[in-house]
Amino acid sequence: MSLGGEGAVVVKRKGGEMDRSTGNSNLLADGKGKDHHEENWSRQKRYSLVSFRELPDYMKDNEFILNYYRANWPLKEAFLSIFRWHNETLNIWTHLLGFILFVGLTMANLMEVQQVADLLSFITRSFPVSSNSNVSHNPEEFFVGATDQIELKGITTPEMDITPPLTSVTRWPFFVFLSGSMFCLLSSSICHLFSCHSHHLNLLLLRIDYTGITIMIITSFFPPIYYIFQCEPHWHFVYLGGITGMGIFTVVTLLSPALSSGKFRAFRAMLFCSMGFFGIVPAVHSTIVNWSNPRRNITLAYESAMALFYLTGTGFYVSRIPERWKPGRFDLAGHSHQIFHVLVVMGALAHYGATLVFLEWRDRHGC
Ligand SMILES: [Zn+2]
Repeated sequence: MSLGGEGAVVVKRKGGEMDRSTGNSNLLADGKGKDHHEENWSRQKRYSLVSFRELPDYMKDNEFILNYYRANWPLKEAFLSIFRWHNETLNIWTHLLGFILFVGLTMANLMEVQQVADLLSFITRSFPVSSNSNVSHNPEEFFVGATDQIELKGITTPEMDITPPLTSVTRWPFFVFLSGSMFCLLSSSICHLFSCHSHHLNLLLLRIDYTGITIMIITSFFPPIYYIFQCEPHWHFVYLGGITGMGIFTVVTLLSPALSSGKFRAFRAMLFCSMGFFGIVPAVHSTIVNWSNPRRNITLAYESAMALFYLTGTGFYVSRIPERWKPGRFDLAGHSHQIFHVLVVMGALAHYGATLVFLEWRDRHGC
């Protein structure tokens, strides 16, 4: 691994001198040696890390990060830079590791036979429709589409918490959330890895990145809305329809290239935050409806932790703290975008924790 920026200049010069001597010896044997050497030299120079001042305009996003930039690198060099130190290395890895973590969680959940049965039931039978159906006495049907076959009504007394799980509630809203998180984390990693390639690709990847964030926010609504209002499905349409509508508006708005620039950083954050704040409406609604449910405080604690992680992350993203306090000091590690990435993964994990509580509740009590 080589260091970039000022460090890279030193490495580059040393490399250049070595190349120069090699080039001279080649020259004795082959007249084309000098050309060959110069080609190597310019290639090496081209893929060295550069400073903020040397960047093309489209890459000038954060003036408080002074060095270690990649600029206009070919795709192959950009891909291999995943193993080099530059100012995007930790941005790539924070979300790549988050993605791998969510793949692991998804696999762990998929591997449970009961849950596979639920997923199959979603694919083969579509939505569970009613909460009032009778209990099936056919053991096969009992496991397929179990949500609409549970007789017990919502249980609200703590002593009932020892009730053994009746059956497994459908998992598809849970997997929708896991898929949305994986899509967001992976597209973010890819965006940070390749956005140094060209202006065109940079704009395209930024749009995919924003779409990924929007999809993660929308899909995060699925488990709580689905499981909390499982017995009143009309609220699914109100809340999931509402957040999807806001998401479509956000994506369409952010497709405008002008809004991808640094100037609109706060505007973008405002759009994403307003989607998150929309969640306050169903949260208050469900808190009132489930006031006496013993799990209320646990899920509220998880979801408040999620909100705190996301809001703190957005605060770092917009304010560009700490690099604005000491420009150049946090180029490689510790700048705002990296902190924002870590907080996004922690927020998603808190939401995962809340979802497990919803699942356990519905597994035990149905509607
Ligand atoms: Zn990012």
